[in-house]
Amino acid sequence: MPELPEVETIKEDLRGLVAGSKIERAEVLDPSLVEQPSTEEFVGRLEGVVIAGARRRAKHLIVELDSGDSLVFQLKIGGQLLLVPPVEEPGTALMLVLYLDGERRLFLRDETGFTRTRLLDAGELEERLSALGPEPLEDGFEWDYLPRKIGSRKAQIKPLLLDQKVVSGIGNIYVDEILYDARLHPRRKANTLSEGEWKALYDAIRSNLAAGVEHRGTTVRLFRDLLDRPGEHQNYLRVFEKHGQPCPGCEGEVVREKVSGRPSHFCPECQREDGSERVGQLELE
Ligand SMILES: [Zn+2]
Repeated sequence: MPELPEVETIKEDLRGLVAGSKIERAEVLDPSLVEQPSTEEFVGRLEGVVIAGARRRAKHLIVELDSGDSLVFQLKIGGQLLLVPPVEEPGTALMLVLYLDGERRLFLRDETGFTRTRLLDAGELEERLSALGPEPLEDGFEWDYLPRKIGSRKAQIKPLLLDQKVVSGIGNIYVDEILYDARLHPRRKANTLSEGEWKALYDAIRSNLAAGVEHRGTTVRLFRDLLDRPGEHQNYLRVFEKHGQPCPGCEGEVVREKVSGRPSHFCPECQREDGSERVGQLELE
């Protein structure tokens, strides 16, 4: 599922490869894709407009148009945007085709069918994005934001980090890696974290997301960039879907358990549920 680093990768590709192109026409192949406005109005407002730029907010991919409208995608589990050519025309699971000038086409395909899009004017866009939490890679995101925002909550830390109203862009892959780096069990209650643990969590959020961006995303199954290439960050994962394998930090084994309904991967030795430190951990570091 595309999280901050994957959407960031597609956004950069759109800026480099598609910005400045004119949309000659749009074809909606799966009407369930368009949440707003009607499919007819959606197609009409896209015809003849120029793609002025692209940006990302949380997991939203925002294509900026010279009409003042924004085409907002939520790629959900398996949405892929592919530029043809150079990519070969995809044959299945198509939801939308944007016919660009210069004989190029932008295909949206999704095997899982959950991708949704909206065409919004400036006011609608602002309203849509207003409830989202801060961007964790931006300068204004400081270590003490999370303890101030959620430090008194008795809820488990993992679902709090996945809540886009708390902090933007983190999903189920990066959160497991982040909690591993911070040595926090996913079921730890937010109100039990020490100042040192909040600082470790902050460092882990920044370093894991930045590495994901640098490696152009994580491809566990479906993620592809605009040119149909997988990311590389899957080669750097320590715990996500590594259950049954040795923990890279101790002699223990990574386990997989459901936490708040989500499959979660962690090392029960390095990430103690009671918050205690593993014996010998300091010597290893
Ligand atoms: Zn371990």
